[in-house]
Amino acid sequence: MIRVSDSKYFIFGTIYPKNSQKKERNVLKPEIIAQMPKVELHCHLDGSLSLNCIKQLAKNAKINLEMTDEEILEKAQAPENTRNLLEYLARFDFVLPLLQTYTNLELAAYDVARQAGQDNVKYIEIRFAPSQHLLEGLSLEEAVEAVVAGLARAEKDFDLKANALVCGLKQEPLEKLNKLVSVFDKVRDEHLVGFDMAGDEMNFPQIKFRDLLGKITMRGVQVTLHAGECPDCERNILDSIKMGASRIGHGIMTKNLSKAEQEMMIEKQIVLEMAPTSNFQTKAVTELAQYPFKELYDKGIHVTLNTDNRCVSATTLQKEYEKISAWYPEFSLADFEKINHYAIDGAFIGQVEKEALHERFSKEYQKISD
Ligand SMILES: [Zn+2]
Repeated sequence: MIRVSDSKYFIFGTIYPKNSQKKERNVLKPEIIAQMPKVELHCHLDGSLSLNCIKQLAKNAKINLEMTDEEILEKAQAPENTRNLLEYLARFDFVLPLLQTYTNLELAAYDVARQAGQDNVKYIEIRFAPSQHLLEGLSLEEAVEAVVAGLARAEKDFDLKANALVCGLKQEPLEKLNKLVSVFDKVRDEHLVGFDMAGDEMNFPQIKFRDLLGKITMRGVQVTLHAGECPDCERNILDSIKMGASRIGHGIMTKNLSKAEQEMMIEKQIVLEMAPTSNFQTKAVTELAQYPFKELYDKGIHVTLNTDNRCVSATTLQKEYEKISAWYPEFSLADFEKINHYAIDGAFIGQVEKEALHERFSKEYQKISD
């Protein structure tokens, strides 16, 4: 029989801290949030470049941006009043011409991992669509190799582990998407850990990609899928799970699923990769009362916090945590710890690495609460 201590309990073999007993309303100070070790599962490479990095990439690519810093940010960032997911996604077009060489992709991956380090992220998965980076002759495999090289370099310089996910874009033709399958046969690098489908969910339902996902999952590749990010697309969440996804990108529309469907997600420990700033910008929700983060957390669904796009959403993981603490002052340090343990369990890494992270996080959160 599993012994349950006072401060911890077990679910499916994993120890999670208890929800705090006393629900004091207490917005956490930014300096406390800064000390909290974090896991980030959902971060797009092309949407997360720092201003300095964008300028360096342009210089390397011999592209004269002829813009002030403010003008660069205006092009790269989505405004607060973005109309929908498609308008949000259009902001990525600005940086893509800068990300067409091995050197620049390596540099970009390093830059995003570096920023995560500043957020006290100890484990991050950075995703990108290699098909977007072939305009100057890179192959799909070379694009992936460049990104994992940048992540490996960042691991040497910063106290974090960084892995890569390959994305297919839903709006791309199926024959182009099918070429991504061979990336997993050809690139043998421990940093390449999973697959995602991103892009236009409004016009391309998840079910369209069943055969492609079958080919990916039969290779033992772990899958997270963007789903339930736009109004009335909860069906995509259920289809994603059926097709083998253990994590869902955003999954906001989980709130519209039935009790039985939500219970199935709890039982399967499906992780929702939520990103508050982005979720409002893409109009997944328009007011706080509709945002289901806390409601789903209270039900036992494995929600996690992410930036989605540091640059496009003008955010950091620190800011996302501050936002959640301000919106839900009763969401305590122990609650933040718990969603990080959820993220560790959902990470595309081996059991030994997960256990080491669980232990490290438990100790560091304990130290903060002392
Ligand atoms: Zn995303």
